[in-house]
Formats: sequence, C-alpha cells, structure tokens
Amino acid sequence: MPNINLDGKIIEFKPGQTIIEAARDHGIEIPHFCWHPELSVSGNCRICLVEVEKMPKLVIACSTLASEGMIVHTKNEKVIAAQNAVMEFLLINHPLDCPICDEAGECKLQDYAYKYSVGESRFVEEKVHKDKRVPLGPRVMFDGERCISCSRCIRFCDEIAKDPELTFTKRGDRVTIVTYPGEEMDNPYSMNTIDICPVGALTSRDFRFKARVWDMSSTSSVCIGCSRGCNTEIWVRNNEILRLVPRHNEKVNSYWMCDHGRLNTFKFVNAETRINIPQLRNDGQLIEKSWDEAVNEAVSKLKSFTKEQIAVIGSPFATCEDNYIIAKFARTVLQTGNLDFIRHIDPSFADDILRAEDITPNSLGAELVGVQPSKSGLDIKGILSAIKEKKIKALYLIEDDIVKAFPEFENAIAGLEFFVVHSTNHNKSTALADLIFPAATFAEKNGTFVNINGMVQRIRPAVSVIEQDRALDGMSMSRLDKFGTQWDRWASGKKINALPTWKILTLVAKAIGGKFKFNMAEEIFSEMANSIEAFKNLDYDIIGELGAKVKSEISNNVKVS
Ligand code: SF4
Ligand code: SF4
Repeated sequence: MPNINLDGKIIEFKPGQTIIEAARDHGIEIPHFCWHPELSVSGNCRICLVEVEKMPKLVIACSTLASEGMIVHTKNEKVIAAQNAVMEFLLINHPLDCPICDEAGECKLQDYAYKYSVGESRFVEEKVHKDKRVPLGPRVMFDGERCISCSRCIRFCDEIAKDPELTFTKRGDRVTIVTYPGEEMDNPYSMNTIDICPVGALTSRDFRFKARVWDMSSTSSVCIGCSRGCNTEIWVRNNEILRLVPRHNEKVNSYWMCDHGRLNTFKFVNAETRINIPQLRNDGQLIEKSWDEAVNEAVSKLKSFTKEQIAVIGSPFATCEDNYIIAKFARTVLQTGNLDFIRHIDPSFADDILRAEDITPNSLGAELVGVQPSKSGLDIKGILSAIKEKKIKALYLIEDDIVKAFPEFENAIAGLEFFVVHSTNHNKSTALADLIFPAATFAEKNGTFVNINGMVQRIRPAVSVIEQDRALDGMSMSRLDKFGTQWDRWASGKKINALPTWKILTLVAKAIGGKFKFNMAEEIFSEMANSIEAFKNLDYDIIGELGAKVKSEISNNVKVS
C-alpha cells in the first residue's frame, strides 16, 4: 500500500482516501466540524487545514487526496495559527451560552475551544442575533445563534434520510438554516441531525433541558423497536432513562437510528402501567401476592393439567436466554410440545434505510433457540383452535400481548382454566390473566437478541441497581422477596419488584422439581453455545460491544442471510 508521512510518522493509505481518512484509520484525529465519515465532503469549516510540503498554501485535509510520498504537517506553527484563526472566526458570533446549552459536555465547538483556540476574544462589537427557538419539525428545535453553518444537517437529510427538507438561506454572517416553504423536518430519521450537529444548534424537543450530560451515565444496548437491532446507548439519571442515542456499528446501523426507536421504545420502563409485584386473580380481582405465593400457585395449578392440556407461548420481544429457558421449561418440565411464538410483521414500518418490517428485536433468536412446536405439538394457530375446543386448558405466555396481536384470543382465553403471563406492563393480555409475574425490561437485564441479519448482540442492565444474579443464588424465595427483588426506582419511593423471565421460570421449574441451575444469563448462553449449532463457539466476550454473527447454516432449517 502507498504511504504518506504524517507528522514524521509513515502511515499507509488506501488509494482514493483523503488525508483526514488516512489519518483516522491510524487513530490520528485531525480536527473537523463539517466533515463526517458517512456524508459527502463540503469543506466549509476550514478547521482541518494542514500543511502539505511543496503545496503553496495550507489545504483542507477532508478533501485533499493522500498521494504516495506526501509529507503532511498537522501540528506545526502555520497549522496551529490557522486553527486558532478558524476558532476565533467561528466564536465571533457564537453566543457562548454553554451554561444553559444542552450540548455542553458533548460539544465539538466547546472541546475545540479548549484544544485549538487561543482562549480569548478580540471581538468587542455586538454579535449578530438570530432566532433562538425555531421548531424545525415535531422532534427537533433549532437555535440560529449557535449554528456554525457546517451543513451536516442539510447533507444528512439529502443523503441519508433521502428527504431534502433543509437548506441555507441568506449570506455571510446572516446565513441560517430553514426548512423549505411549507415543509417541516419530519423525516423518520430527523433526530440524527441532533447527534451530528457539532454544536447545540439542534436539540431534541423530547430531551432538552431534562439533564446535563455529566449528571447521566450511559450503557451500551440494542434498540427493541424492530429486527434491525440498531446499537444504542441508554442514558440514565437517578435510575430513570432519559434518552437513547445511536452507537456506531458499521455492520448494523452505521451512526444512525430512527426516531421511532429513539423515542418510543423506552418510556414504558418508567410508565405507570409497570407491573411491580406478582398478582393473582381472585373473584375476578387481581390481588398482589408475594413471590412465594405466586410461584406456589403456578406450581399447584400447572401440576393439575396433563401435558396435552398445556400450551406455551414464547416471545420475539424477550431475549434468547428467556426464550431458551421457556422452550426448555415447556419440553422438560411441562413436557409439552405445544410451543410457539407470534411474529409481529408491519410492512408499512419498513424502509430501505434501517427500519425492518419485523417490529420485534428477536424473532430469529426465538426461532434459533427452539421456540417452535415439536413434531406432534401445536403451533400458534393450533393452540388457538385447541383452546376454543377446550383441549388446551392452561396457557403459559411470556412477554407478549397475544390479545392485541390476535384479537381472536380474547374470547378463547375466557375458556381457559389457567392463564399465566410474564409481563413488564399491564396490557390486554394481563387484563385476562389468572396469574401475572412482573418481568424485567430490556433495560434491566443481561441477555442477547439476534437481529434480522443474524447478528447476535448483547443488552445490559442500565437502570436496575439490584444485584439480581446474586439474589437467586442460594436464597429462599421469601428471602428473595425481602431483599432480592425490590429497589427504589424513583425518589418517590415507588418499588419495582420484577425479575428477568428466565429467573422467574427458574424459580417455577425448581419448585416443580426441574433441574434448573442458572444464576446468570451468561450461564444460559454458555449452555446454548454448547447445544445449539448457531451459537457454537460464541460467548459474551466474543459478542462484545459490536455483536457477532451466528452460524449461517443452522439446524431446524432456519437460515439467516
Ligand atoms: S444546525 Fe448544526 S448541523 Fe446544521 S448547519 Fe448548523 S451547526 Fe451544522
Ligand atoms: S430502525 Fe429499528 S432497531 Fe433501528 S432505531 Fe429504528 S426501530 Fe430501532
């Protein structure tokens, strides 16, 4: 490969790469505002000026192609003077309102002011004033005074969202961003402009002023809004999720996520509809029960049916670990082959950018771990018919709302003798349940999802402070009630009393007499890796932050692309 000399270091570059790209491939950052690796080059901010020997003037690293033998300086006197000048120019009209700006703490302009400017201003004139609170669309607010006219937001709408909604208007220091007349920025990916805006000019109408970035923590996770499985960071303050942002993963979602995933997939975690204690129906009313009582009730009821009278429904919303355990529970504890899950397909949700028509995060995972009927068992339609014919008398459902998905279940369920549900929130199915176990959400547990392309990816607890894994280890259920599963979710003292589905099933299986010895989700994954071809040779470390591909040719005739 050809080389350039960058600040005395010889680095290789791929033909066609610019200086900024070649440097970045070797972990060397040349400062930039307008350049973004996934957008076209506009070259207007000038902060990436570098000196190339034998060239008469400084050049911008974002649009100058690297060539064999080129000698580049990014830190010499001339370059530093140019960086200082660009920063001084950008800060002339910038309001410097960092103390009240949502971007403070994660702002490129703020960071570069420390790194690349002289730290003082010679400007004594009045700054140009522009509109400060302009709703560009339903989800994004614009502050004209903070904008540095980098054009990233315009190029994002044109090139990635394929919906050219924004443009510059006016000239010189009056230049600003507007939507085209009669238009608003409402494309399904509009909030990515907030992430790529290098300053606080674009802010989220949902999140603005909710928290300072340094008061929050973030946890790597995966969006549950569809089977793309966009990589995300869950941002939390006081054990409450305040925002999701995309996490870069070139093989899954690049730098982006859709607005639906960002806004509509986490608020249920803190919603009033959360189920925070086991509940048992008595004379038509749901009565709160301890874990001991709820597990005992489940055991005594389930034991009263024959294996042919029981059916089990897994979930594409639950993790691979949860689904593996429900399948194992069905086959080895309840000994039934009446096992399936519901696919949630919405073609109107899909596009050719990221959004997929399967609006659940883990259909492929549920299938791979064996949530499917045995040869003589019933699938979802068969289960529904058998309930209507009163052949199935007990139904065990995890983490799905079958009544919402299949309204036909509503009347059928009335004919059941026992309907047990694991759920995070109350819904149409829990309204009909005889016994409800409160399930932990995706943001409260460890586990894995397999996305549409066969990428197995990890989720991690972001808001649970309980040491859940230790809670089960060697503790009696009554002790678990007292210490293990309650924690303060809000300062108001509201208690959430929930467990991951696999842990609830472990409790029930143990009480029935099954040999379920799992204390951590990782142990379940390890058993999956030993017994399911698709997961062979994988573990949580190998999956890591960016996921790993499951084997493409796998058993049960399930194929992934
Ligand atoms: S609003 Fe932000 S992203 Fe758009 S041009 Fe201004 S500074 Fe750049
Ligand atoms: S495309 Fe799907 S996975 Fe990605 S953010 Fe949107 S809903 Fe979530």
